[in-house]
Amino acid sequence: MNIMKKIKIGISSCLVGNKVRYDGGHKRSKYCLDIMNDWFEYQPICPEMGIGMPTPRPPIHLVEGNNEIRVKQIDDHSIDYTEDLKNFAKKTLPGIRHIGGYIVIRNSPSCGMERVKVYHENGNPSNVKGKGIFIAELMRLRPELPVEEEGRLQDPRLRENFITRVFAYQEWQEMVLKEMDINMLIKFHSRYKYLVMAHSYKAYRELGRLVANDGSKSFAKIVSEYETLFMRALKRIAPMKSHVNTLYHIFGYLKRDLTSMAKKEVIEVIEQYRKGIVTLIVPITLLNHYIKQFGNEYINNQAYLNPHPIELGLRNYI
Ligand code: SF4
Repeated sequence: MNIMKKIKIGISSCLVGNKVRYDGGHKRSKYCLDIMNDWFEYQPICPEMGIGMPTPRPPIHLVEGNNEIRVKQIDDHSIDYTEDLKNFAKKTLPGIRHIGGYIVIRNSPSCGMERVKVYHENGNPSNVKGKGIFIAELMRLRPELPVEEEGRLQDPRLRENFITRVFAYQEWQEMVLKEMDINMLIKFHSRYKYLVMAHSYKAYRELGRLVANDGSKSFAKIVSEYETLFMRALKRIAPMKSHVNTLYHIFGYLKRDLTSMAKKEVIEVIEQYRKGIVTLIVPITLLNHYIKQFGNEYINNQAYLNPHPIELGLRNYI
């Protein structure tokens, strides 16, 4: 990785240990603070405090109404915070333009990303699930932003996927959005080809067509469409079959230079990964070993081989 500085990440304020919850407590996240702290610099936001609610405060919940879900005070449904939380999201936006991702807490009527409990007006639980009003608005305004719930980061695949997206998005911002230069876009596209291929072959082809613009689109439009397609593609968890396909593609760059014994060894390890005997880090490490010796600049520079810091060990579990 050539990104040395910490990536700025928005986070539900209670996750960093701030006592901002309705009950005056916090929900300090060990994973965010003890493990990711070396890589992420957090920008804590509590939307409920942001709209002027005190702590402690009367709790709120999502309520199913006519064609929409609103957020109301549990013991008094005449007190509705929906518009305040939506407006706070809009107000927050300029101050978080630079962030590379956002980590939220689950099941919060303000911050929960999905599957948040919803209630009927009479207080009974509904079968419908909702999204926290603040984060839903933020995700509507910035759909490309990687957002994940802290609880879901316990799942190795979701964790690896989120952190891959954060590092990729950071590089996208640094390389392409800052420069807005066609050569940088081509460079970025070339570096991320195999990572995108592992996540979505369809997106890999579509992005290629977009970069090879037939002249019908302005550069700004290409960048905007690329960003949407690229971030959407990475959001899809790369299936094992696609990883195998990508590993063989990369292996193709080495075939000419490897001895038959080394080739056999690489194929064996990729097949062990396919069978679930070893995790992804094993074929990746072996390929990286040979790429360092025989790979050309193009393959050496592939983000797929090194999408996030090795110290995080994310591919040891998938
Ligand atoms: S509004 Fe969000 S940040 Fe504030 S206490 Fe609730 S979950 Fe935490």
